[in-house]
Order: sequence, then C-alpha cells, then structure tokens
Amino acid sequence: MSFKYPLSFPVFEGNEKKYSNKAIEAGHLATYGEFIPKFERKLAREMHSHQAVALNSGTSALHLAMVLLGIGPGDEVICQSFTFCASANPIVYLGAKPIFVDSEKDTWNMCPELLEDAILSRIDQGKKPKAIVTVHLFGMPAKMNEILEIAGKYQIPVLEDAAEAVGSKYFGKFCGAIGKMGVYSFNGNKIITTGGGGALISDDVYLIEKAKYLSTQAREDLPYYHHLEIGFNYKMNNLAAAIGLAQLEQLNAWVKKRRLINQRYRELLDGFPGITFQEEPEGSYSNYWLSTILIDPDTNGISNDKLRVIFLKNDIETRFLWKPLHLQPVFKDMPYYGGNVSECLFKNGLCLPSSVTLTLDDQKLVVSHIEKELIKTLG
Ligand SMILES: *Cc1c(COP(=O)(O)O)cnc(C)c1O
Repeated sequence: MSFKYPLSFPVFEGNEKKYSNKAIEAGHLATYGEFIPKFERKLAREMHSHQAVALNSGTSALHLAMVLLGIGPGDEVICQSFTFCASANPIVYLGAKPIFVDSEKDTWNMCPELLEDAILSRIDQGKKPKAIVTVHLFGMPAKMNEILEIAGKYQIPVLEDAAEAVGSKYFGKFCGAIGKMGVYSFNGNKIITTGGGGALISDDVYLIEKAKYLSTQAREDLPYYHHLEIGFNYKMNNLAAAIGLAQLEQLNAWVKKRRLINQRYRELLDGFPGITFQEEPEGSYSNYWLSTILIDPDTNGISNDKLRVIFLKNDIETRFLWKPLHLQPVFKDMPYYGGNVSECLFKNGLCLPSSVTLTLDDQKLVVSHIEKELIKTLG
C-alpha cells in the first residue's frame, strides 16, 4: 500500500544512480567489487569503529554475531522483549533459548535492574546467560552505561541490535560501537537503505575478519573450493554497497532532519492532554528514525487504534509500536523478567510519519487530526 504521507520513505537524491551505474558498468553485481570495501571502510569510520563487514540483512548480521559469540544448542541468551522478532530469531536458529527482559519507561529499552534480576535468576537455576542482546528502539539509545556495568560484573558479552539506530549517539559513542559487537539494518524503510542489507561492526579485528570469512561460505584462500567450517551466504553485494555508500554520505543530514521532525511534533503536540513522547536522557542523541507518541485513553478518551484508522482514511501511514516478544505466541514458553511496561507501550503507542521529505505543513496536517479527535472527546 502506498500512502501520501508514509511512515518512512527512502530518498535517493545523492550519488545512488552514479555509483550503481558504475557497479553495473564494471559488471560487478555480486560479492566482488569496489563498493563493498568502500562502504565498509566509510561505515567503520563514520561510527568510530575499527572494522565493519557489510552483509545482506540485519537479521543475518545478528545471526553471524551470535555464531561468533559461540552461542549454540542449550545456551541461554538474554534479549530485550520490546523489539522486532529479528532480535531474537537467530537465538532460536542456533538452538539456544531467548530469555526476555522488560523495558524501562524513559528510553523504552532494556531495564538495567531487570537485566540483573534475570542474570541472577538464571545463574541460580544453573546456567549463566551466554550473551545479552540490547536494542536501541526507534533510534533511542538504551542505558548502555548501566547495562555494560552489569554485563561486566558477570562477564557476559553485549551485542547491540542497532538496526534502527544508525547515527544515534550515547555519551559521544555511536550506537553499535559501544558493546562487543553491533548490528545495523539497511532494509527498505530504515534511516539509510540498500534495498536489503545490514552490517556488523566491532573494534575486534579478529571477529570481523572471521565474519567476512563465514559470510562468504567459509571459503579457504585456495584455487579450488576447500572448506574447514560451515559458512553462510550472507555478504552484501556490490550493487547494494554502491547504493549504501551514497546513502551513508547523506546520513548526517538525515539524522538532523529526523531530529527536526521529532522536535516539531513535540512543539505541535505540546499541551495536548494524554500525549507523551519517548524521552531522550542526558547524554543520548537519538537519530529519531521514527517519531513515536503514547496516547493515554484514561486522560483523553482516544486510543492508538482509533487514531490509526483515522490516519488511514486520510492517506497517512502510522503503525503500532513493536508487540513485545514475550507476548508473541511463538515465544510464549520462554522465560520473561519484568512487568507490563513494554505491554503498555504497545497498547498505547503509535509511530507517526517520519520521512525526511515531510514538511512542516505535512506535520501540521497530521497533528490536526489528533486535535480534531481530542476536541470531540474532551469538548
Ligand atoms: C529492521 C530490524 C532488524 C532486522 O533487520 P533486517 O535488515 O530487516 O533483517 C532487526 N532488529 C530490529 C530492531 C529492526 O528494527
């Protein structure tokens, strides 16, 4: 479905055509070509990380990262519950078990206190978690200082799912470059896109070299195909990398634009009863990939679903926040630590149009529909 005011629409006004033409003219569309190393080097440089490997999706990047962390059958991995299923699915691919942890109210990301409760409880039951998957949802950095302190105390590596947080910062460090490894997604509606794509970054040169090897079918450097390990076909292709390089050149401008869009929503919705926002704590700098609001029906008598339907009728695309994974039928038997924070966020939240092409007038139009509803219910 195509909307006049889409949630997050890609823009290709930079060097995308120039670079992709160059890739086509060179005949390099697969996993050989100039744009793959160029994209990897620029991404690593931009994120102040030593190394990056470009992959064919965020999900494959998460899967590879978990392979590199040695996660296997019978292991337990702690994962933020309030996220997209791709944060946890690779845990299951590897025969391990996800242990879900609830969010905290400010950032909507993993609650550090509940994380420690979960670690202690699992250790008590005889198994120390093998890794922690934190997420920076909608671009908002999680409370990484607290999380890393707890992870360090129990010596558990932290994998950052920064799929939505390309360009977000936390106390001067880029999201994805804070934990042991970080993952980005360049899927169609993310802040930068390669059609489908992802990346894995780390300061650990060995891990990234190993990821490059495993992502290209674990092929030995010999004149014939020789395999010592089971690999994957997870590498990004040169055509995608060409588009990615052009998109990356525009990332800083787009982060500024999405932050401006979020600021405008805050100003336009200021004083509206029962409408609140995701909080950006001191030291955090969100890319505001999506601008999101919470609607409190007890205060204003309207619900997120009512608004969603009104927006739909007016050609405006909105979306619910992620349904917590511990509430997903497919994960119903997995352990969960927490209360109802993520559940309430899901029940009350709505993602608003956040494309960089959005004008102030477009945003005023979006807000006018909320205002009309509030007038109806509150008079
Ligand atoms: C988009 C997304 C992913 C998956 O990335 P793909 O490139 O679509 O495989 C993983 N985690 C989160 C939080 C995401 O939003």
